[in-house]
Amino acid sequence: MSESSEPSEEKFQNPVAGFGVTFKAMFKKRLTEQYPETQKVTAPRFHGRHQLNRHPDGLEKCVGCELCAWACPADAIYVEGADNTDEERYSPGERYGRVYQINYARCILCGLCIEACPTRALTMTNEFELANTTRESLIYTKDELLAGLEEGMVDTPHAIYPGMDEQDYYRGLVTGAAPGTERQAAVSKGESKQDNGHGSGSAREVDA
Ligand code: SF4
Ligand code: SF4
Repeated sequence: MSESSEPSEEKFQNPVAGFGVTFKAMFKKRLTEQYPETQKVTAPRFHGRHQLNRHPDGLEKCVGCELCAWACPADAIYVEGADNTDEERYSPGERYGRVYQINYARCILCGLCIEACPTRALTMTNEFELANTTRESLIYTKDELLAGLEEGMVDTPHAIYPGMDEQDYYRGLVTGAAPGTERQAAVSKGESKQDNGHGSGSAREVDA
């Protein structure tokens, strides 16, 4: 008889134990987040979407070395470097990143690529809303990743600051575009000098 009474006692206790968990949870702090109505504030060093940075005069920091692509464990980065010329200059040194793509269908936001970058051209922002509906839209191109223009910058391509070399840029001696700096025609992208979109003018005018 005693054997048959034990299982029925268990049957009675189990639902009560379940309610115990419910009651305990009722008095705990709620963890529900009202996203997307309320945007989550990320930690300052959160790994979000990448950004390709510029020097203070607008020239690009990327030198097209591909170290970021080699460091990536997910094979998410594609880079093609090219040579600068005096007529079409994108970075202060010899080479620049002509093609730059990050595939966010592959990227695991680990940050190894930004550790590998020798020029701090590549960093990560706090932006985390990267979901989309097509694979193509998850491949971010250089135009999407390149940082916007700030005060004192001129869009690339443009000439190096007169009297400065690549090392001077990294020493912080260039703090803005030289007066009268003009955007050059991006001939490699099919532009001619006539249809140079930014025209002539001072650095401030082009920046606006
Ligand atoms: S964050 Fe990681 S996975 Fe994403 S591109 Fe960089 S190295 Fe590759
Ligand atoms: S982002 Fe940095 S590591 Fe990658 S190609 Fe450009 S300079 Fe090299």
